Amino acid sequence: MTEPTPLVVAVIGAGPSGIYAAEALALQSAVPVEVAVIDRLPVPFGLVRYGVAPDHEAIRSIRHTLERTLGEPGVAFYGDITIGRDLTVDELRASVDAVVYAYGAGSDKRLGIEGEDLLGSVAAPEFVAWYCGHPDVHPDEHLDGADAGDRRIAELVTSARSAVVVGVGNVALDVARVLVKTADELAETDMADEVLASLAGKQVTDVHVLGRRGPAYTAFTTKELRELGQLPDLDIVLSAADLELDASSLAVVGQDKVAARNVAVLRAWAGRPLTGASRRIHLHFWTRPTRVLGSVAVTGVELERTTIGPDGFVVGTGELSEVPAELVVRSVGYRGVALPGVPYDASTGRVPHAEGRVIRDGGFSVDEYVTGWIKRGPTGVIGTNRSDAVETVRSLLADVDAGRLRVHGRSGRLDEMLTGRGITALDLPAWRRIDAAEVALGATHGRLRTTLAHRVELLAAARESGSPV
Ligand code: NAP
Repeated sequence: MTEPTPLVVAVIGAGPSGIYAAEALALQSAVPVEVAVIDRLPVPFGLVRYGVAPDHEAIRSIRHTLERTLGEPGVAFYGDITIGRDLTVDELRASVDAVVYAYGAGSDKRLGIEGEDLLGSVAAPEFVAWYCGHPDVHPDEHLDGADAGDRRIAELVTSARSAVVVGVGNVALDVARVLVKTADELAETDMADEVLASLAGKQVTDVHVLGRRGPAYTAFTTKELRELGQLPDLDIVLSAADLELDASSLAVVGQDKVAARNVAVLRAWAGRPLTGASRRIHLHFWTRPTRVLGSVAVTGVELERTTIGPDGFVVGTGELSEVPAELVVRSVGYRGVALPGVPYDASTGRVPHAEGRVIRDGGFSVDEYVTGWIKRGPTGVIGTNRSDAVETVRSLLADVDAGRLRVHGRSGRLDEMLTGRGITALDLPAWRRIDAAEVALGATHGRLRTTLAHRVELLAAARESGSPV
């Protein structure tokens, strides 16, 4: 009996959303599938490797589950392939039966205030990418020994004494925590050597975190918030007056358990006497930045007290103050970007869709699907991407069942296309060689692993053991 012709699906993006889509396809038995999970980076796992803070190893260990999916029969990893450069989206669509866009949110939201682009003002996604050792922020040309890495961020980190973090989400917590942790605490992570060296030289004593609304409106998860209060030699400074709740805040904490728990944690901190610790995190609520101060480099931030206006939106009260800072990290959210050839709604920063079916030219595309942050926006925890991917794959399989999505017999076409262009993807064994190289490098310093931050290092590790890549 001949094998049934498989449905060939290309998933663009090997982060959690893309790999969860591959998992949902691989685990079903209604339709035989082949799934190519494509990523522009030499390594898989997206924000699990390059977004989750290095000191959150329990969350980062999700990569083991994701790696198992990449090793499932019918699933293959295609690393170091950039759609839009190596292949256009149309060429990819012509070589497979369906495409799932899972390329995440590659940019950041702007504050839209004066001084935002001064030297020393950095978007959190870039700062996070730096401390996670992302090759985009660690260009190969900087790989020259002690001076390696993104010198701009490294220099800021080593010279700043006071930092402002704008936003009260989990990324803001990650950034604040990394800025106050000691070199010894950070050495327990898998941070790249050059990142660790910069952070070991930092002199930051004060981190000011700004929430433009009150403590009832934070985007923190309580576990991550509590973690701040457990750091040794750290005072958390906040004003008891900020913790008095107005009617709208009371309504929020009455309905939202996370908000209520967060307020309780903040209240407990407000009641703690300061200890004279060597580092402080200042939590400012009802405060927004109105100007980043400085002529070339950041010297501080102008702040304005806020309140909720009659229409329910945040408004300034006109009450201004200043806080000195040499580093400003704008942690106000990620933003999806357009991929050439893919429908994109600039007003939302997402690919337009219904239940994961991409909308193109006013109707459903016959072969395009979307999942993850580029589908729903940059929200939720990693597990949220699993249910999101399941919804998308359910739509895809229903379309096969209904005959809307057709199986063309395109198995092997993607490989032919890449081979014809002299392009070799990095596969799962190549990732395993990189993985082994990072573990081996870590062992030379008594660490569990050390991230290779530069593309040339990753490619060299992928090639070890005589691999042809
Ligand atoms: P986020 O959760 O959306 O938080 C963004 C914060 O920025 C909010 O406090 C928001 O305040 C504020 N903000 C937005 N625009 C602003 C402006 N113009 N001026 C001042 N403040 C502004 O985004 P995120 O922290 O980047 O996190 C992204 C997602 O990843 C979230 O779902 C998060 O939970 C998840 N994540 C989870 C972890 C973890 O450890 N579990 C770690 C990192 C990230 P408003 O509410 O007033 O808009």
